[in-house]
Amino acid sequence: MRLRNIPRAEGTIQAHKTVIKRPEAQKGCWSQVFGNKNPIHIEIGMGKGQFLLNMAKRFPEVNFVGIERYTSVLLRAVEKYDTEEFNMLNNVRFVCMDARDVEEVFAPEEVEKIYLNFSDPWPKARHAKRRLTSVEFLARYEKILVPGGKVEFKTDNTELFNFSLEQVREAGWILEHYTYDLHHHEVMNKGNVMTEYEEKFSAKGNPINKLIALRK
Ligand code: SAM
Repeated sequence: MRLRNIPRAEGTIQAHKTVIKRPEAQKGCWSQVFGNKNPIHIEIGMGKGQFLLNMAKRFPEVNFVGIERYTSVLLRAVEKYDTEEFNMLNNVRFVCMDARDVEEVFAPEEVEKIYLNFSDPWPKARHAKRRLTSVEFLARYEKILVPGGKVEFKTDNTELFNFSLEQVREAGWILEHYTYDLHHHEVMNKGNVMTEYEEKFSAKGNPINKLIALRK
């Protein structure tokens, strides 16, 4: 994602009610953040928040945490939250952090589901560990997911998708479902909420890949 440096991003984000300023202080206490014991779903690499906000609107009985590395991108999600369509949602929080530190922010078994949408491909082999579906990242997710917790991953990048299928197997996770053409898969596409990148790439005619993996 190409970014401009937006000077006002930091201030706006810091002041916003949905943004968790010291996320590591909430480790093990996310139900208190939301004021209920509903399950917690997180999206890592949320971008401008389209998927997360629409999911939160559709599933009010689930608490959603959107994780994004860049304040300039997170600002867009916060601005979208502030629109009339989403500003009534009380089941959404945002965190600005690198997903590498996810275990410092969520306690063991605190998260029910992790969404990864159109994650950066890191095409060079020497950067494979940075891919959000690498065995290294799956090991981090394993620590925070409940038993039977899931990772749902969508991408139009078939190379990254094939790598991810291998990594899921290598990590000993259970591959519950997968498809190389989500939008034409009757079962898996049911209730699909499109991300910003998904809209962009499927409009160009790119098929969308999706896998659902179960924590071992
Ligand atoms: N998920 C959105 C979508 O599908 O429209 C955005 C996809 S964009 C290609 C990937 C996003 O993930 C970027 O906003 C990037 O900053 C974020 N990201 C990549 N690696 C990350 C990491 N390690 N921790 C947190 N965010 C990350």
